[in-house]
Amino acid sequence: MRDIDWHERAASAVLDGRALIGGKRVAAASGETFEKLSPLNGRALVQTARGAAADIDAAVRSARAAFESGAWRDQPPASRKKVLQRFAEQLMSHREELALLETLDMGKPIRFSMSVDVPSAAQCISWYAEAVDKIYDEIAPTGPQALALITREPMGVIGAIVPWNYPMIMAAWKLGPALAAGNSVVLKPSEKSPLTAMRMAELALEAGLPEGVFNVVPGFGHEAGEALALHPDVDAVGFTGSTRVGRKMLEYSGRSNLKRVYNELGGKSAFLVFKDFTDLDRAASTAASSIFFNQGESCNAPTRLLVEDSIADEFVARVTALVGKYQPADPLNTKTVMGALVDEGQMKTVLGYIDAGNSEGARCVTGGTRMLEQTGGYFVAPTVFDGVNNGMKIAREEIFGPVLSVLRFSDEAQAVAIANDSSYGLQASVWSSNLDRAHRVARALRAGTVHVNQYDEDDITVPFGGYKQSGNGRDKSLHAFDKYTELKTTWIRIG
Ligand code: NAD
Repeated sequence: MRDIDWHERAASAVLDGRALIGGKRVAAASGETFEKLSPLNGRALVQTARGAAADIDAAVRSARAAFESGAWRDQPPASRKKVLQRFAEQLMSHREELALLETLDMGKPIRFSMSVDVPSAAQCISWYAEAVDKIYDEIAPTGPQALALITREPMGVIGAIVPWNYPMIMAAWKLGPALAAGNSVVLKPSEKSPLTAMRMAELALEAGLPEGVFNVVPGFGHEAGEALALHPDVDAVGFTGSTRVGRKMLEYSGRSNLKRVYNELGGKSAFLVFKDFTDLDRAASTAASSIFFNQGESCNAPTRLLVEDSIADEFVARVTALVGKYQPADPLNTKTVMGALVDEGQMKTVLGYIDAGNSEGARCVTGGTRMLEQTGGYFVAPTVFDGVNNGMKIAREEIFGPVLSVLRFSDEAQAVAIANDSSYGLQASVWSSNLDRAHRVARALRAGTVHVNQYDEDDITVPFGGYKQSGNGRDKSLHAFDKYTELKTTWIRIG
């Protein structure tokens, strides 16, 4: 990374918390704002528009008008591709600005905002842009008297409601397929990290996306989010967030227009290490990096480490020895790998789970405390609990912080049973040098993604989503087009 004084950049950054509706930056109709605090020091960062029902209605009307005008959906796929490719290029040419906003807003280290968040979001937009003029529709094998065309059409207005942990990437996972397919979008970013969403929409306009096709309304979940999910003129909601709010999404749909709801929800992923795995150092370093990346604020973080009895003491010692690499520090320092939690509320939630682990009898082997309190920021030490059983709160509930729970098993059947004994089913990982076992266990695990002898491989080409209460629908890959398109059959009689 080139030598940048990020503190100096932060001091001179111009932050704009206004919504973007119909191609214009606007204040909330009520004129109200809310104060967004910095996770780095607890001080006021920016006044953000407090979007509510009137703003959502204006954004949905603007999205509908843009859709009906055909200005976007009727462009040939190859020209939508060009606009979205320019949008992706704009994201990359504003990489430093966007990365700084992401770090200031949600507390992640600048090195990862620069190397992961902005490039992944840009790559996602570019990948769907590239895909859209290469997908063919179908003709059914109906016989000589008729022609039955099976075509995909854009749905119309898509509501995208996203969380704060990867603000740009989560937005891009909705925007890529929804926009490429020809829809209009109203994006509601999290109130905890709204800033990059509005800049993304400005850059999309500069890239040539017609006004009204991509609108952003910041605000609280129970105000702007609820209004969007209840709006009668929204055709589908792509939601990423907690399982608690995912339930509400289904209710909102039932209470309004039965809009499609695609939920991408929480996780409590299991990481199973068998004694036959020959490279325990690699397994330990992958376990540590996967749980502590993004301060543990990742839906797919492997928060339950299941280790075979006979190697458990040694394996826990190896993971614990690595914790020093993940000590929280200044997110604006390019060497930092563990930043601040997103806000005081999230920090208190995580510390509350640590208290629960201690009081339920698990053994905290490292961490367990707030750190760098003098900065005013919300830092928590990387924490490992040993002696956890699967009935404990820290094994059952999603913590969304840097806390690892270690459970032990005596054989394969027990390992699979513990891993599957969860209301979640987002991801899982099996570590074994026995090929039969690796395949057997991978098949038996009830999760949307199962990794074998790795955890960190990821790619836009593969679907991402969960079994059970981790959601339905899948982000990423060509499968994501299914969420934002309707299938139409057209019968043509041949005389
Ligand atoms: P959250 O559910 O609290 O909020 C998510 C979004 O929903 C935010 O924009 C919020 O403002 C909005 N919202 C909240 N209440 C609402 C309501 N009543 N009506 C409408 N909208 C509402 O989740 P969070 O704390 O922002 O994010 C963390 C959660 O997201 C974790 O559970 C994590 O596992 C999950 N997540 C899942 C994935 C995935 O792909 N499966 C990816 C990232 C995060």
